[in-house]
Amino acid sequence: MKLNQNLYDLVVIGGGPAGFFGAISCLEKNSNLSICILERGHQLLSKVLASGGGRCNVTYACFEPAQLALNYPRGSKALRGPFTRFQPHDTIRWFETKGVPLKTEKDGRVFPVSDSSKTIQACLVQTAKDLDVDISIQSEVNSIQPTQNQDFNILLNTGTEIRTRKILLATGGNPQSFPLAEGLGHSIQPPVPSLFTFDIHDPLLEGLSGLSVQDAEIQLAGTKLKQRGPILITHWGLSGPAILKLSAWGARTLYEKKYQIGLLLNWLPAYNQDSLFQRLLKEKDLANHHQIKTTDPTQTLPRRMWKRLIEAAGIPDDTTWNTVSRNQLNTLATLLTRTELFIQGKGEFKEEFVTCGGVNLKEVNFKTMESKLCPGVYFAGELLDIDGITGGFNFQNAWTTGWIAGQAIAESLTE
Ligand SMILES: Cc1cc2nc3c(=O)[nH]c(=O)nc-3n(C[C@H](O)[C@H](O)[C@H](O)COP(=O)(O)OP(=O)(O)OC[C@H]3O[C@@H](n4cnc5c(N)ncnc54)[C@H](O)[C@@H]3O)c2cc1C
Repeated sequence: MKLNQNLYDLVVIGGGPAGFFGAISCLEKNSNLSICILERGHQLLSKVLASGGGRCNVTYACFEPAQLALNYPRGSKALRGPFTRFQPHDTIRWFETKGVPLKTEKDGRVFPVSDSSKTIQACLVQTAKDLDVDISIQSEVNSIQPTQNQDFNILLNTGTEIRTRKILLATGGNPQSFPLAEGLGHSIQPPVPSLFTFDIHDPLLEGLSGLSVQDAEIQLAGTKLKQRGPILITHWGLSGPAILKLSAWGARTLYEKKYQIGLLLNWLPAYNQDSLFQRLLKEKDLANHHQIKTTDPTQTLPRRMWKRLIEAAGIPDDTTWNTVSRNQLNTLATLLTRTELFIQGKGEFKEEFVTCGGVNLKEVNFKTMESKLCPGVYFAGELLDIDGITGGFNFQNAWTTGWIAGQAIAESLTE
């Protein structure tokens, strides 16, 4: 693509979902503007292609802005206003009007009906092309220089210089993308990984890989960081929705602890130690001859997990409900409501990966996404110090902030 050497109305730096959505939203507001997207890689929207295990989890079916914002460990407060203007309803409608129907799965995650992320990538690229956006790959921006005419000179790694009236920085959460924002005077919250599994090697979990517990409560020891929900035992430790959420909310704490910290587990969060002890005593009072290891009176835990916890509580295999001692039941109630494991490291979650950290949110006006320090420069997507839990929230941040930036840029150029 031969780039316009004169003056663009807008140059978008970064060919990811936030950049594409920003460019498209700007032209949907004012189709006369000249816009170019610069992407340093050889592929456009590469993370969209890799996302959601190749299916692209586009957004999450939560349509109440304040509720939606609660899914962002970083950025929750800042996103509340933007979500009243562009939220999952708008995302779903936008893709459907472009001929890409979406479907909502039981757990609330939204995917293209095609179950292929290529559909989303193709839709964004085609829409941008139809709107006459210049798109240039293998075009890395090395520097941005504000000029005296209140526009900007952009220098590419190829030596090409481009002039533009406005800039949308949408370079993503990779720390390599931060120097451009820093060069414009912005401060950066240090990047650390979010959304990962926990490496835990403990005899309690040995041989149980593949088992899932539908409702457990987990807490990072010595902190108030807690989550409740399904957990999954894996070959290397623990995964599942509750673990991923805890990794996101605890991203900074876990990083500071070098991913080595205690994990407290309540396997039956409907109970505390005392209420569970009472429940177990009630079972004992029935004086039945069933072996403890074969009957979970709460009928909640998978059989193998229950059996393993009975062993770990030191209760012999042949113990029956009518022979078990109060002491043994007390030990069992303690273990079931407060198992202590130790996280030895950070595992991988291949379906989605994000970093927390990025451009300091106080330096951005969330009504327009314009920089408060460098007028004419706008931000969108993961470059900001915003990240969501898994479930489509990270793309929703890209759609919302990209859309608002695009609209605001068009308005400012039309004034
Ligand atoms: C494997 C994987 C799966 C995921 N799955 C999901 C999912 O299913 N649902 C979900 O909500 N989120 C998912 N995410 C997170 C989601 O992909 C990101 O939050 C989202 O892509 C962020 O969009 P963005 O446009 O801000 O940044 P990016 O997608 O990172 O795009 C930024 C672009 O800017 C380019 N760039 C950077 N610096 C320069 C420069 N100097 N010059 C020119 N170009 C530059 C980069 O090459 C990149 O293409 C996943 C992430 C990964 C890694």
